[in-house]
Amino acid sequence: MELSVIIPIYNEEPNIDELYRRLLSVLEPMALPGGFELIFINDGSRDQSLALLMNLAARDPRVRYIDLSRNFGHQIAVTAGLDRATGEAVVIIDADLQDPPELIPLLRQKMLEGYEVVYAKRRSRQGDSMAKKLTARLFYRILASITHISIPVDTGDFRIISRKVVEGLRLMPEQNKFIRGQISWIGYRQTYIEYDRAERAGGETGYTYRKMIRLALDGITAFSDVPLKAATIGGFLVSGIAFLVGLYTMYSRFVTHDYQPGWPSLMVSILFLGGVQLISVGIIGEYMARLSANVRQRPLYLISDTNLPLVSAPAK
Ligand code: UDP
Ligand code: MG
Repeated sequence: MELSVIIPIYNEEPNIDELYRRLLSVLEPMALPGGFELIFINDGSRDQSLALLMNLAARDPRVRYIDLSRNFGHQIAVTAGLDRATGEAVVIIDADLQDPPELIPLLRQKMLEGYEVVYAKRRSRQGDSMAKKLTARLFYRILASITHISIPVDTGDFRIISRKVVEGLRLMPEQNKFIRGQISWIGYRQTYIEYDRAERAGGETGYTYRKMIRLALDGITAFSDVPLKAATIGGFLVSGIAFLVGLYTMYSRFVTHDYQPGWPSLMVSILFLGGVQLISVGIIGEYMARLSANVRQRPLYLISDTNLPLVSAPAK
């Protein structure tokens, strides 16, 4: 197999036919001697997406589908696809046509120039709300500034990766997936092309704020220890301030005798310390929760139905 295209699907009923049509009109003219496969992962859609996918699969043997047992989230759905992809190169693309399939030949062309990863970087993005654009911008910049590996800014999972990189991803069994970070971590030669991100073709976004916050926290905790260190540094800082306040109190008590026993200063310092302690415990908790998730070693997802042979290596 020369090329696998991985498409996570969550309530994409209005987009599937158009997506399939546009993918074919791009992939067929590429005339890949080894052929291609389209792997759709139904991530617990509540609409007729699965029926549409099974329909396509019945008509076209290049269409594979994996039906997960419930909604596991975008990153896990992509992982399920990566676990089953057999292509020498693998494209990850959204189903809502925000990532234009027409870029695939370009991505592949760049790859043939000797890169293992070619990601598509958003030059602009239409349709998304102001708040989404702003939070995304902020998140990528914060993440870039607190991590040692260089995770590209303003880049989603739309990209082409080589078999080597897919094998690398399979060696990373972590439960909390942040695939774009993992791919940066893997290394090899990586490059990008720029594109203007279109509006979602139909339907609604499956990325609620809740899911976005979870993804952001997964990315940060998986690729940076800075928040943990910040808790320590914050602790030292607050203790330092407390020490200075202590000195000042003694100074006013014994030297200037201008001493007012007052509770405001007391309250402020108690509240401040309490706040810092709670934040620090919370930060540690975020890491702890992920530690315990990984210790449990649950499978990442369960498959309820697929037209793919299930004999390949079991997902870790
Ligand atoms: N998606 C998924 N599971 C989810 C949420 C989304 O598989 O829980 C898929 C969705 O069908 C789409 C891709 O992930 O193919 C990106 O989602 P979406 O377009 O909703 O995100 P946005 O572009 O708004 O960030
Ligand atoms: Mg989208």
